[in-house]
Amino acid sequence: MFNYVGNIHLHSTYSDGFATLKEIARTARKENLDFIIVTDHFNLAGLPEQGYYGKMLLLVGMEVNDEKNHYLALDISEVVANDEAQTVIDKVNMQKGIGIIAHPFEKGSPLYENYKTYEWNEWTVKDFQGIEVWNFLSQYKDEITGILKGIYLLFFPHSALKGPYQETLDKLDSYQKQGIKVFAFGGSDAHGIKVKLGPLLLFTISPYDLCFRCINTHVICEKELSGKVDTDKDVIYQALRAGRFWIGYDYFKNSKGFQFYIKSPGKRWLMGEDLPLQQNLFAEVRTPYKALVRLIRDGEIYKESKGTIHQFTIHKKGVYRIEAYHKRFFGYRLWIFSNPIWVI
Ligand SMILES: [Zn+2]
Ligand SMILES: [Zn+2]
Repeated sequence: MFNYVGNIHLHSTYSDGFATLKEIARTARKENLDFIIVTDHFNLAGLPEQGYYGKMLLLVGMEVNDEKNHYLALDISEVVANDEAQTVIDKVNMQKGIGIIAHPFEKGSPLYENYKTYEWNEWTVKDFQGIEVWNFLSQYKDEITGILKGIYLLFFPHSALKGPYQETLDKLDSYQKQGIKVFAFGGSDAHGIKVKLGPLLLFTISPYDLCFRCINTHVICEKELSGKVDTDKDVIYQALRAGRFWIGYDYFKNSKGFQFYIKSPGKRWLMGEDLPLQQNLFAEVRTPYKALVRLIRDGEIYKESKGTIHQFTIHKKGVYRIEAYHKRFFGYRLWIFSNPIWVI
């Protein structure tokens, strides 16, 4: 298995982002990402530019949306027009794409169009592949509760990005507990929005370089990337489709090297997989730095461990995922959010 790190959900000048694909790719290379997936609103105009920029693979999907119900569509080749939520989902499935419900819950900010939000409000839908549980721009915006807080966040952006909202996790857990393979995605929603305050002050909201160090997607691939766009694209999408990935908030500590699997004496199961309950099952977790690791079962904290190697016995059915926290000042900060393994 081969691990790669990427960043998902980006906007370029093909919609409302402030940088071109070339510029975004250059930044991603500098930040040592292996791949990025750009998802401009309403179009796939970037597709001809999909490919390698140095060793960094730029992939192009899109975001289908009206005002509410934003849906990320990856690995598609035809534009999906906005429509009823279920129709959009079905159309992405018809192209065998990967569809993700984006930023499903938002609080809004008084400084952004008087609490305007872009949440998902069609929960009767089915057959989507993922929920974006952690979104940089959306959660950053939600924390701008006033002018002073807005200024504070320019200097301390991470305080707005402490982890997924409980409402979002409840939704994710409700699907996963039914055995439905809906996976947790992390997105940047980077736009690199440049805002001018007076003649001298220019600042950027959701800058690409910062986003590329925060909510990253680490995929576990069956094949090594070869440098050929068409095969490598499938290798990465395969891992995403299978749920073989985790979200790493890599800014303070890089989560590269994280491992989570369930093993019996003769076999191992990875994130996204399921196995029948049997004797002698262990969940094993390795974190590249010391961490507080929580084994979550059916959405509830089940067991905890501190250190770098963590082992938990498993003797109950359930859906198991990992939340790892690293120390930060006097407390702990969410660092790694894994996809689950089902024991059925
Ligand atoms: Zn959106
Ligand atoms: Zn977006």
